[in-house]
Amino acid sequence: MTGVDEHLAAVVELVGVTPVAELPLADCLGLVLARDLVSAIALPPFDNSAMDGYAVRAADVADAPVELPVAGDIPAGRVDLPELAHGTALRIMTGAPVPPGADAVVQVELTDGGTERVLVHGDVPEGAHIRRAGEDVRPGSVVLRAGAELGAAQLGLAAAVGAAVLPVRRRPRVLVLSTGSELVEPGTPLLHGQIYESNGVMLAAAVTAAGALPTLLRFVPDDVAAFHAALDEHLSTVDLVLTSGGVSAGAYEVVKDALAGNGVEFRKVAMQPGMPQGAGRYRGVPVVTLPGNPVSAQVSFEVFVRPALRAAMGHRSPGRPRLSARLTEPVRSPAGRRQFRRGVHDPVAGTVSPVGGPGSHLLGALALADCLIEVPEPLAELAAGDLVTVLPLAP
Ligand code: AMP
Ligand code: MG
Repeated sequence: MTGVDEHLAAVVELVGVTPVAELPLADCLGLVLARDLVSAIALPPFDNSAMDGYAVRAADVADAPVELPVAGDIPAGRVDLPELAHGTALRIMTGAPVPPGADAVVQVELTDGGTERVLVHGDVPEGAHIRRAGEDVRPGSVVLRAGAELGAAQLGLAAAVGAAVLPVRRRPRVLVLSTGSELVEPGTPLLHGQIYESNGVMLAAAVTAAGALPTLLRFVPDDVAAFHAALDEHLSTVDLVLTSGGVSAGAYEVVKDALAGNGVEFRKVAMQPGMPQGAGRYRGVPVVTLPGNPVSAQVSFEVFVRPALRAAMGHRSPGRPRLSARLTEPVRSPAGRRQFRRGVHDPVAGTVSPVGGPGSHLLGALALADCLIEVPEPLAELAAGDLVTVLPLAP
């Protein structure tokens, strides 16, 4: 049997990294910056008002209350700036440029709000309510480092310094293909012996949640010709093919029949669930074959495919965070295999409770779980209160 870490390394290597492309900011959420982002401009780009009020010379309001003539308005966005004459005020709005000659802003709350003349009730120090050019970001400085993950704030900053596109490793395109002659489209009638196809939508959702781009090819029957036809039609437009089903030890194992000897290697991995795995290249395109049982498929995706997809986009820690928690009940595990049980984690109490048994068909329990519980290969039994590794399955 192949070890879990060995198969993971093989899948990560197989998937590789996607090329760097300049993508519009709106397409970059969750991606990783490929090169340092240097700002060409200062932030703020110019001295501007932090308040709605009046641009003044602080000396002119030192003896407040005083009344000053209002020489004009400077709304945000005004670019032709009048100079502030001695003994006058200019009405100014938040974000508007501070006019030459002014050294302070009196907030509107300290005045009568006049438009021709303004009565200023209180004095303000020099520099009051002025946001200085460059106090946030200096021109020429690195604002985001290569390797930074692009969340909402990072994308906002990139826009603020004028970037319309960012260099990132693009999202891998993943063909999701389910196999099985027993499968039926949800929403249609079911005959005895048939089941609704569920791996496709589940794995496509997992691909999306990992940051990659799924193409969901519903499913094909256990027929090698149909399977090859579906693959061949889409092969040229994807970076990875992800199949489910048809890889175990029985007859009618369509994925195995179609791909063994065609570049894909099938192996037993020392884990539970998810023992039958396959990986390789079919006509040059990376293929990862997952077992068909829904829990096996989803756990295998978590253990092998999600880290590979995230590594392909340049994430430095492509795996889930690993926490530790105490079991609320005992757990049995097959010695010699790494077990991934589904659990509910209580981070406040520091505990984790298994949901459902080890069976790989227990999709109902999988849907209640928010984490995987990892039981190392050598252990056959764990007691309530034992510390285990927990991998939270947050989006
Ligand atoms: P297989 O690996 O093809 O032998 O499938 C193992 C088990 O998973 C069988 O009970 C299948 O019916 C089930 N299964 C396989 N593919 C799917 C799928 N796409 N949706 C739901 N169940 C599936
Ligand atoms: Mg099958």
